[in-house]
Amino acid sequence: MALLGDEAVAMGAIHSGISGTYAYPGTPATEIQEAVQKYVAAFPESKISAAWCINEKVAMEEAVGVSMIGKRALVNMKHVGLNVAADPFMNAAVTGAGGGMVIAVADDPSMHSSQNEQDSRYFADFAHIPCFEPANQQQAYDMTREAFDISEKFSIPVLVRLTTRLSHTRARVNFTEAVAQKPLSIPKDFKGWTLLPSNARPQFEKLIGKQSVFVNYSDNSPFNELVIKSGTRLGVIASGLGYNYFMENFKGSGLECSYLRIGTYPLPAKKIAMLANAVDEILVIEEGYPFIERHLPSYLLKMGKCLPVKGRMDGTLPRTGELNPEKVRAALGMLPLSFTEGCEPDLVRPRPPALCKGCPHCDTYNALNEALADKLRQRVVFADIGCYTLGAYPPYESIHSCLCMGASISMAKSAAECGLKYSVAVIGDSTFDHSGITPLLEGIKRNAPFTTVIVDNSTTAMTGGQETICGEGPLEKLILSMGIDPEHVKVMIPLPQKHEENVAIFKKELEYRGTSVIIARRKCVQIRQ
Ligand code: SF4
Repeated sequence: MALLGDEAVAMGAIHSGISGTYAYPGTPATEIQEAVQKYVAAFPESKISAAWCINEKVAMEEAVGVSMIGKRALVNMKHVGLNVAADPFMNAAVTGAGGGMVIAVADDPSMHSSQNEQDSRYFADFAHIPCFEPANQQQAYDMTREAFDISEKFSIPVLVRLTTRLSHTRARVNFTEAVAQKPLSIPKDFKGWTLLPSNARPQFEKLIGKQSVFVNYSDNSPFNELVIKSGTRLGVIASGLGYNYFMENFKGSGLECSYLRIGTYPLPAKKIAMLANAVDEILVIEEGYPFIERHLPSYLLKMGKCLPVKGRMDGTLPRTGELNPEKVRAALGMLPLSFTEGCEPDLVRPRPPALCKGCPHCDTYNALNEALADKLRQRVVFADIGCYTLGAYPPYESIHSCLCMGASISMAKSAAECGLKYSVAVIGDSTFDHSGITPLLEGIKRNAPFTTVIVDNSTTAMTGGQETICGEGPLEKLILSMGIDPEHVKVMIPLPQKHEENVAIFKKELEYRGTSVIIARRKCVQIRQ
């Protein structure tokens, strides 16, 4: 069956007998949860819980709850989602796992749809948990299955790290025999799950004590493959898609080198030592941050070796952005391949993304721009993560910031309290559910003089139209229940024929010296029936 890397993870989890999968949509990870949802729709008797969660922190906590009662759980998200889930993630490493718990995280090097290109292998290292890094779709399936097994064997959550081009490309995947869901198994001793300092200390010691076991596992894992060719000067360490780019150039080229493929972490100390003893210099090829490259000198130091290490840090490979076969080819010292006419790599011209024709956000921004037109020196519009972030581009140029989920409201509130006269937050309905509720509650509690515009298109549009938690009705009730003056909660319909009316609503609330909320509600044209 030809599967996306994301779908291969989903099928690996389903065949590993998961009882639940927990996620908030985010490119390039969204298709993991969607694949499980499609499976559940086709096989409802599977009884896998697979609804979208309100945010990644809640998703992580829900997975921990399932693991605690002895069942298997998958939690999946994009790389920046792991920042949101960092609190339960770090502490779940200390509690350990009951039923197998796997955290699938899709990183986005080159930032195709993200604010940064952080590398989740650092998070696994930070939490002291094992990590798998597949190089292809088959490995995404196989490693997910293995991750559930070792999660239970070592009582530890395990991270599976994907990157965009693996998540979003297809290849044939062969399945292995599925296992049934685990029965309920309530822990006999709850101390390890109750992280009071007196319990957390021995749990953390237990976690540190497992580290040598994880290294031993890595050294014996077939996913870490060492090939020594005697008499070679160059040793290559390659991981994830970097391994594919290496192989694409290496196979049949006549290049003489030994190599180590890294598929599991922590790094396999013995295999690294064997490679280092066989070569005179090491080139590290890895997608994302120079994680292996940074760690390598300490391994060499322990061996008393001082080999040159090349990679992203010395400029042999670019420090930022995705790798590709051409960049890796140059790093290997091979001449570039000549492209046939019409196949030049930059033939496809980059074009910036834009709001769809007829998008409700266009009408919201047109009205907001007019309301703020005479206040340009005293206004900042803080925005958030969603399609509406595209309002930064011409012809709108309506927004002035985008930091992380929910930050629009926090930033607008604090700026207003420190003297900004017209301080506006623009946030989508799904992002508001995710991380906007708490800063708005704080703003209302202090009656901070700012305006929040919730652009409610009734979906999580940017990731393909997933359901949201609060819809029309519950959203207004929630906001009113926070104690805001009902006079300053307004609903508008962003349409060209409502333009004058909407400008007037914006103008009135911008002059109000307290907290106001405007819900600009019209369905995303991509999901409208
Ligand atoms: S997908 Fe929907 S919300 Fe996003 S730009 Fe298009 S119409 Fe607007």
